Amino acid sequence: MSEEKSLNFIEEIIEKDLAEGKHASIITRFPPEPNGYLHIGHAKSICLNFGLANKYGGKTNLRFDDTNPVTEETEYVESIKADIQWLGFSWANEFYASDYFEKLYEFATTLIKKGLAYVDDSNSDDIAKQKGSPTVPGVRNKYADRTVEENLELFTAMRNGKYADSEKVLRAKADMSSPNMHMRDPIIYRIKHAHHHRTGNKWCIYPMYDFAHGQSDSIENITHSICTLEFIPHRELYNWFIDKLAIFPSHQYEFARLNMTYTVMSKRKLLQLVNEKHVTSWDDPRMPTISGMRRRGYGAAALRDFCDKIGIAKRENLIDLGLLEFCVREELNKTALRRMVVFHPLKITITNFDKEVEWVNLEDNPEDPNTTYRQVPFSKEIYIEQDDFMEQPPKKYFRLFPGGKVRLKGAYIIQCDEVVKDNENNIVELKCTYIPESKSGNDTSGIHVKGTLHWVSIAHAINAEVKLYDRLFKVENVAEAEGDFKEYINPDSLQILDKVYAEPALANVNFDDRFQFLRKGYFCIDKDSTANQIIFNRTVTLKDGWAKEVKKQS
Ligand code: ATP
Ligand code: MG
Repeated sequence: MSEEKSLNFIEEIIEKDLAEGKHASIITRFPPEPNGYLHIGHAKSICLNFGLANKYGGKTNLRFDDTNPVTEETEYVESIKADIQWLGFSWANEFYASDYFEKLYEFATTLIKKGLAYVDDSNSDDIAKQKGSPTVPGVRNKYADRTVEENLELFTAMRNGKYADSEKVLRAKADMSSPNMHMRDPIIYRIKHAHHHRTGNKWCIYPMYDFAHGQSDSIENITHSICTLEFIPHRELYNWFIDKLAIFPSHQYEFARLNMTYTVMSKRKLLQLVNEKHVTSWDDPRMPTISGMRRRGYGAAALRDFCDKIGIAKRENLIDLGLLEFCVREELNKTALRRMVVFHPLKITITNFDKEVEWVNLEDNPEDPNTTYRQVPFSKEIYIEQDDFMEQPPKKYFRLFPGGKVRLKGAYIIQCDEVVKDNENNIVELKCTYIPESKSGNDTSGIHVKGTLHWVSIAHAINAEVKLYDRLFKVENVAEAEGDFKEYINPDSLQILDKVYAEPALANVNFDDRFQFLRKGYFCIDKDSTANQIIFNRTVTLKDGWAKEVKKQS
């Protein structure tokens, strides 16, 4: 039997609406402004909107909210589409708010004709002053008394380019004494002589968000228009326009946006990180963008799982980045190919090993009951990690030390007989012997060792570059930290190891492959890899090293 999950509050609303026959089926929309790349917060909104439509047999439109010509670009439109598809969702229709410019203009004209909108010549300071404050009612200025004919004439002239930017605005005649500041004769059209990524120079007046969003929902017959909590104060105006224009009654519902530890979740801040080169690009693997996470090796299923786990709430909170990493690990543990890679090599010579090479059989993924196998070459000279050896080990040190024994993964138990040093007393090599009866899977030696090390055969190793990522910020709650958020950037968020030694199976890889480097973490291939230089991104560590770190310090 499948586990019954309790409904979230939006599902409750939808089930009630459907039961009461308010709608035959539901239509949701995802309405990004194409002014940046999508981040994990958007993923939450995408999973919610598309998820609801999937669950209730409805549909979801992708609508680009492109009413602001200055910040919007086609590059962003393309990236947004790619990200939604990668997440595993498909939209019923691809729409643009700019497709509705003519219709929205008509709506504005309707309001003017009803005496519900007027052209105001005041500058923005005066408009703000006249609006009053939440406790002081606003006052209308003389322009509010313009006749319908005069308003129609002026609005047409605005459209025709007669005026300069900001010279005039069109305002709704709503309620100057409303406790809701958004209702105090909000600006609904502004003049902006700017090129638009889709409509070019056709328009020099553009609708404001509040005048475009609800009406676009209505034009598309959106039944449940879901947005984040900061839009609660906009809802009254949303309903006012729909009511006054007597158009399809879409409804707005609000849920808490996703905030996550150790990162920022605002396109404006992310753009700053890119422009000021704190990261390399929007898809830098340290970015909380969907494209950054994809490049880092996070799976779409893991992101969906994460969005499902955090659920939908009506109150803001801060989600632990560790939860996302947990979801990423869970998915990768099932799918990643196990490989051995040595980051900081220490040479071992196995003095009693006389064969040129012995191929040992290792599982690609022991978590997979149908695992495939690969052959790994074992030879006289191998590398292990420098920090898998200590000359003077503390108690309970299960790795290698003089006279000590360890198992080499999938191969033999070895014993360290001699430490070779250079003139400066650096350890440069270990001379070891192997125990021929101790072969993994066929061990008759009777020797028990606690440590198992990863290793690579020097003669067969291939070189690669590895990029190790850590959290982008040093503090948990970046949004609430005092001062400029950029002061909290973690200076050690990227560590590059330009020459690591990998087992030869890693010479033949596909871009989609996911790896677990034994004892190191999960890795994927970076898109900057070339035929000569393969670059691995660390997707996530094996365990939450950070949690351990915090415990140690407290
Ligand atoms: P940002 O503040 O990051 O620029 P935005 O809200 O301006 O985001 P939009 O492109 O307008 O970005 O957002 C598209 C949709 O995604 C909206 O419905 C918005 O409410 C939702 N959304 C944006 N950020 C989050 C978030 N952190 N959590 C959940 N939903 C979000
Ligand atoms: Mg927005």
